[in-house]
Amino acid sequence: MECNQKTAFFFDLDNTLFDYEASFKKASLFAFRSIVGNKEVDPDLAEKWFTYYKGYCDLFWPAYEKEIMSRKEYQRTRLLSSMTALGLEHYSDKQVKQYQELFEEKIHTFVEPFEWVNNLIQRLNQIGIITGIITNGESDLQRKKIKKLGLQIPEKEIYISSEINITKPSPEIFHFVRKQTKAKNLYYVGDAYEFDIKPAVVAGWTAIWWNPLKKPQQTVHPCVYNCSVGNELYQVIKKCTESAGYSLP
Ligand SMILES: [Mg+2]
Repeated sequence: MECNQKTAFFFDLDNTLFDYEASFKKASLFAFRSIVGNKEVDPDLAEKWFTYYKGYCDLFWPAYEKEIMSRKEYQRTRLLSSMTALGLEHYSDKQVKQYQELFEEKIHTFVEPFEWVNNLIQRLNQIGIITGIITNGESDLQRKKIKKLGLQIPEKEIYISSEINITKPSPEIFHFVRKQTKAKNLYYVGDAYEFDIKPAVVAGWTAIWWNPLKKPQQTVHPCVYNCSVGNELYQVIKKCTESAGYSLP
C-alpha cells in the first residue's frame, strides 16, 4: 500500500539491534588473553578476570560520566584495577593501550543481530516504510558494527552522533532526522529510557522501549510502548504500521 504520509522506523544500535554486553565480553576476553601473553589462559581465570573487570567498569562509570575521569583514565583504571584484583600487576601504559586497541579493533567481529532484527527490517522495507539507525558513538566503530550486522538499511538513513555533532539524549537529534527524512510518522526503538525514549517523545516521536531486562517504567506515557521479547515488539510495530495505514506481512 502506498501511503501519502511517509512513515519511518529508526532503531538505536547497541543493545537494541544486538546484544552489546555479549560482544563486549567476547572482545574484552580476546584482548585480555592477548595482553596476558598466553592464548591458553585458564578459562576460569579469564571468567574471573571478566567479573572483576565488569565490576570496575560499572564502579568507575559515574566518574567518567561526570567528567571527573577522562575516557583514557577510565579505561586505564578499570583495566589495571581488574588485573590487580587477580594478582596480575606491573602492567604498563603501553599494555593498557594495546588492550584498548585490540578491544576496539575486534569488537565489531563479535556483533550478531538479535534473532528478530533481519526479518522485521525486511518486512518494513517490503511495504515501503523507511528504516534507519540513530546512534551515539564514534563513527568508524559504529559503522563497522552496522556493516557486520548486515542489515538492509540504506546508508542515508544511518545517523551517528559524532558525524552530525548532535548526541542523544538531546531531542535535537530527532528533530534533525525528522527534517532529513521528511517523514510524518516517526517511531524510535531503543533500549535506554533516558537516552532513547525520553528525547524521542520530547521531539514528538512515538517511542518503543526495547526492554528485555524488564526494567520498571517510571512514568506511563501514551507515546511509549514497552516490549521485552521479539514477538511483542513485532506486534507493537504491526499495530503502529496499521495506524499509519500500512499492512505489515
Ligand atoms: Mg542502546
